Amino acid sequence: MTSFGDDLARATDWVEDYLARVGELPVAATVEPGELRAQLPDAAPEQGETFDAMLRDLDELVLPALTHWNHPRFFAWIANTGSEPGILAELLIAALNVNGMTWLSSPAATELELTVLDWLAQLLGLPRGWHGHIEDTASTSMIAALAAARTIRPGGVVYASEQANFSVERAARLVGLDFRKVETDDAFRMRADFPLDDATAVVATVGTTSTTSVDPVPELARRCEEAGVWLHVDAAYAGSAAVCPELRWCLDGCERADSLVVNPHKWLFTPMDCSAFWTRRPEVLHETFALVPEYLAATDAAVDIKDYGPALGRRFRSLKLWFVLRWYGAEGLRALIREHVRLAQLFASWVTAEPGWEVVAPHPFSIVCFRHVEADNDALARAVTATGEAFIAPAVLRGQTILRIAIGNAATREDDVHRTWEALKRCAA
Ligand code: PLP
Repeated sequence: MTSFGDDLARATDWVEDYLARVGELPVAATVEPGELRAQLPDAAPEQGETFDAMLRDLDELVLPALTHWNHPRFFAWIANTGSEPGILAELLIAALNVNGMTWLSSPAATELELTVLDWLAQLLGLPRGWHGHIEDTASTSMIAALAAARTIRPGGVVYASEQANFSVERAARLVGLDFRKVETDDAFRMRADFPLDDATAVVATVGTTSTTSVDPVPELARRCEEAGVWLHVDAAYAGSAAVCPELRWCLDGCERADSLVVNPHKWLFTPMDCSAFWTRRPEVLHETFALVPEYLAATDAAVDIKDYGPALGRRFRSLKLWFVLRWYGAEGLRALIREHVRLAQLFASWVTAEPGWEVVAPHPFSIVCFRHVEADNDALARAVTATGEAFIAPAVLRGQTILRIAIGNAATREDDVHRTWEALKRCAA
């Protein structure tokens, strides 16, 4: 039997080697449904196995069936990064294995979480003094926000743009509210002139999933305030851009929102999962979620984060966000975001200059929507992805299939974007 220390060294060697070679692996898995399951045993082993055996199966069975999100040419959906500080933190988080459900259950978990969310609020130019905590995903943050909105005004409608993420409709359904889509203008931004008489909440998106459009938050905030309607801002992807002063306009008006979400696991170099949720009305969240069973009595003068969201058991996610913010520093984060925006603008300029191709939406951040004017763009995405060179996913915009390049991995270089453009042109030809 090898010692835990040997296995740990093997695991960290594996990670180092993987990160060094991931750029040479095919980005997207090409397996058929059921292919991996057919290779795995029917049941767990009766006797324990060696770590070596597990690592071997990871390499031989699992890796070929994985899509490599940490690949520098992963450009599908919203690209992200399992960064070095995040990887190191995840190891330590598992070793510590604390459950931060209440302050007493692990004081440091609560206090670090509140502190790191305050740090992040400052980095993004958000007001100090809001309550902020970490949920697993923006979908859960959405449920928390809409449940709070329902506490104030039950039985109404949730309004969001037709470009909003589907997690809005799903959360509305879960908390028993109706959902209505609002039309968008020619830049895919939510119109702000819809009636609010029956509204419980409005969800504005800063960086919609397909085109990264930014809804008119200042106008929506003014109308929601007048109507006493909860405004939740979904800045899951683009909110991270606000670490750069020149991109901070994207959060204009958000200081008047009731709640807001930014996902560091999207564009802030934090491994899955980590969704930062803030509210300026913590008392409403508390009224919505606080139930105190006898075995979890509250501690005087302490915050029990379980009282502000749907989860009881809570991972020590703040440790990884703390490591990421300290490892890069504000300057390092700004440099990465700026580079991604630069690469996206460069890519858009290549598309614009190339006959037969067009950019189809404004692209202020790191995602560009584009299409070949004649080709079947869906087939084109599949063809490029099948080369193993890059992962490009299609999207549907106003009934038309388009392509998206989503830049967001810290290892992506100009050459990766260029190779992908060349592959796209080759496949189209
Ligand atoms: N909001 C937006 C704008 C998104 O793009 C996404 C996912 O891509 C979500 C919310 C849902 O995020 P999560 O996967 O963290 O629930």
